[in-house]
Amino acid sequence: MPVIVTTSPLLALDRSRLASLMQRERETFVTSHPRSHDLHEQAKRSLLAGVPMNWMVKWAGDFPLFVDAASGAHFRDVDGHEYIDFCLGDTGAMAGHGPEPTIRAVERQLHRGITHMLPTEDAAAAGDELRRRFGLRWWQFTITATDANRFSLRLARRITGRPLVAVHDHCYHGSVDETFAMLDASGRVVASTGNTGPAVDPALTTRVVEFNDVDGLERSLADRQVAALLIEPALTNVGIVLPEPGYLAAVRDITRRTGTLLIIDETHTICAGPAGGTGLWHLDPDMLVIGKTIGGGIPAGAYGMSESVGRLVEDAVPVEESDIGGIGGTLAGYALSTAAIRATLNDVLTDAAFARMIPLAERWERGVAGVIAASRLPWHVTRLGARAEYHFMPNPPRTGAEQAAHADFELERFLHLWAMNRGILMTPFHNMALMSPLTTEADVDRHTAVFDAAAEALFG
Ligand code: PMP
Repeated sequence: MPVIVTTSPLLALDRSRLASLMQRERETFVTSHPRSHDLHEQAKRSLLAGVPMNWMVKWAGDFPLFVDAASGAHFRDVDGHEYIDFCLGDTGAMAGHGPEPTIRAVERQLHRGITHMLPTEDAAAAGDELRRRFGLRWWQFTITATDANRFSLRLARRITGRPLVAVHDHCYHGSVDETFAMLDASGRVVASTGNTGPAVDPALTTRVVEFNDVDGLERSLADRQVAALLIEPALTNVGIVLPEPGYLAAVRDITRRTGTLLIIDETHTICAGPAGGTGLWHLDPDMLVIGKTIGGGIPAGAYGMSESVGRLVEDAVPVEESDIGGIGGTLAGYALSTAAIRATLNDVLTDAAFARMIPLAERWERGVAGVIAASRLPWHVTRLGARAEYHFMPNPPRTGAEQAAHADFELERFLHLWAMNRGILMTPFHNMALMSPLTTEADVDRHTAVFDAAAEALFG
């Protein structure tokens, strides 16, 4: 449950104080990271903006940290600074950096063929474990969660014969064209901010509903034009927005009544427990997507489907068409990744691991809530299993739009840089922390102390 902190009087943020603190932190960062600076300059010779992937331009320092080595819940940068990693590759490394069982399985497979376009024993074992966890009957593998979402939507359209998909406002499901749609102030579907070069206007492909809006969902699905509703059971990418009691049951009821397939994307919400939000809230999706963490860092995604959806897919896609038609990926289900998935699910992200990770996130939540209360900040902290986050608003948001309206890029950048300069990496573009099985109580307490010092610097 979110910790709600009501404070009165609420403290106002002094923007000029923030700007001068930020300036100081930027200088500290630049001075203490000469090697990262030099590598960034070197990278500019061939990499656009000096980064291998575009979103790395957005890290809070003047240039990104270059990593020397990572292990467990920690890493060291090329300048020799040690960090506690609460970002964990934005969930890609939730199993911890280099989990032993995954490394062993991957090393073994490296010598037995990395990819052959043929299954290995690991594929069946990984499928069995996904089936056991999530309760869905049939599974397929991909390289990424994005692919798993794209393929699920394609199959949903194919077997329902319906043209549209529906998503939550302010969702993120990877780089899936149809999901880059949001609501404008008047409730019309428009392209999401920053949507780059869309093939078609997403308003033509997508209906968008507010999170926690049962009536809106009912209206969006009523004409039975929507093949699938693709959702996270709690929003995580605009910041954590939790479902209100009854919302997810209503989602299941409405999708069922309107013949709309319900696809649950557990790529981030796996933090809720061994079977993610689906296990925690006893959801019964028609399809389920998961990626990132299941491979322990090795590229891997998977999508599952119910008994009946699987049969419809088999009937709809004849064998001679199975290698074409928009569901692909030469390396999908490749040997290295299925070895990694099997080991990561069976031996790393176990029930016991979650039983360690969730209390750590509770400790993180208590620590942050304590600082918020003591410093009388108009903020609050929310948690979903092993993931927690503070928000710049006093009460939990009900919708993605409400959460987005309270985003504060300048303040967030400062807090990230403050943390980085003190040996803590937070998930970028959020104030979010994720626990791995190897995170410690001391790591969590260190964050609380650093956050406390930031509050003091800003408001003290
Ligand atoms: N689904 C969700 C819920 C995500 O948060 C993300 C990425 N943040 C994805 C899918 C896509 O994952 P990937 O970029 O690895 O394909």
